Amino acid sequence: MGAAVSQREISFDVIVSEEDIRRERAKARELRASEWWKRRRAAGLCHYCGKKFPAAALTMDHVVPIIRGGKSTKGNVVAACKQCNNKKKHGLAWENERE
Ligand SMILES: [Zn+2]
Repeated sequence: MGAAVSQREISFDVIVSEEDIRRERAKARELRASEWWKRRRAAGLCHYCGKKFPAAALTMDHVVPIIRGGKSTKGNVVAACKQCNNKKKHGLAWENERE
């Protein structure tokens, strides 16, 4: 279902196909394995609260969630501590990232 939708509308209601979601999640996994992300995480700074954390306490967060049309690019991916991640989860429609 929904796989026929391949063109994304540039509008408030972004149409994201399941294929787009799969592709962006796959890209997120690649980014997570990259040196860029390892360095970013090792820096230990949460994008939202600006506090310092051990690398293991930081998760990858999409500023614009994939289901909202966000991409798994360096410009849309930030390190977030679990607390901020949770806050965001309750504040916005949130994608269920299955790790
Ligand atoms: Zn934080």
